[in-house]
Amino acid sequence: PLVLGIETSCDETSAAVVEKGERLLSNVISSQMKVHRRFGGVVPEVASRRHVERITDIIQQALDEAKVTLADLSAVAVTQGPGLVGALLIGVSAAKALSFSTGLPLVGVHHIAGHIYASHLVEPLQFPLVALVVSGGHTELIYMSEHNRFERLGRTRDDAAGEAFDKVARVLGLPYPGGPEIDRLARTGTPAIDLPRAWLEPDSLDFSFSGLKSAVINRLHNAKQRGEEIPAADLAASFQESVVEVLTEKAIRAVQGKEVDRLVLAGGVSANSALRKQLKARCMEEGIHLSVPPLELCTDNAGMIATAGTFQYLDGQLAGMDLNAEPNLKLT
Ligand code: ATP
Ligand code: MG
Ligand code: FE
Repeated sequence: PLVLGIETSCDETSAAVVEKGERLLSNVISSQMKVHRRFGGVVPEVASRRHVERITDIIQQALDEAKVTLADLSAVAVTQGPGLVGALLIGVSAAKALSFSTGLPLVGVHHIAGHIYASHLVEPLQFPLVALVVSGGHTELIYMSEHNRFERLGRTRDDAAGEAFDKVARVLGLPYPGGPEIDRLARTGTPAIDLPRAWLEPDSLDFSFSGLKSAVINRLHNAKQRGEEIPAADLAASFQESVVEVLTEKAIRAVQGKEVDRLVLAGGVSANSALRKQLKARCMEEGIHLSVPPLELCTDNAGMIATAGTFQYLDGQLAGMDLNAEPNLKLT
């Protein structure tokens, strides 16, 4: 099958064409990062307006780059949620309009399923597996026994990993989005500052990052009161080390607890160089096969949505014209 994917859950307007759920024929991504940067974060109303302005062109561009027409397609897949409701609605409306006018089957995709299926564009997902999903809004450990089946093993109890990166970056005076900025800055520092690790209860696969964030803020505040200066690069490196250590060890624990030998890294934070490095090293030690998508497939893109959508389509999971944007859509 040849599937058109559409993604507008946050601040990327994206459309892609994927063949057989594994070959990316096009993946057009229009980022609104510059627009939101001066506000220090994504402004939902602004995001929706931008999506409206761009969506038609982006879809056409995705078809053109793939050298296909609507008549060649098997289905249209769109991110149904979770995300910003106004932003999601633009993609969902566009997909429904296309489906209605062409008769193409419509598929509603969970954004996090999309992030996991990004890996499939690099090497086929092999089940059973555990996925570590780390993004701007999610930090979850997911078990998959087969295609389209998701079981949640752990989740964040407060901030998502990406959210923690963005908030700490803001405190350090770095621009939005903060994740890549901290990643860059951390390379020039040493993790010499003692910061907490939130392991939670001994058997828990849940995460918590708000305490770590507060610890960073307190360190800065106390130093300022004493008239001292903490090197920002050291603080960034120490913060990143704490996040990476907990993410890595809990992911390994989840894989071993489920007695599987495959781990998939997914979501925007998987662009983090320290996380990639540490996970690779630990998986090597433990004999776990690690699958990490290339950077451009880690952050929001429609290629991953088209891929996840292809497997739902093959499974007969189609949506009707009553498909609606679901800002709090559950994966399991
Ligand atoms: P969700 O997928 O949960 O809806 P989202 O779509 O906003 O959230 P993504 O686009 O998957 O999230 O990822 C964006 C997040 O990834 C941001 O929080 C950003 O700071 C973080 N990020 C991107 N690159 C890096 C990096 N190199 N290191 C750490 N974090 C990063
Ligand atoms: Mg984004
Ligand atoms: Fe995302």
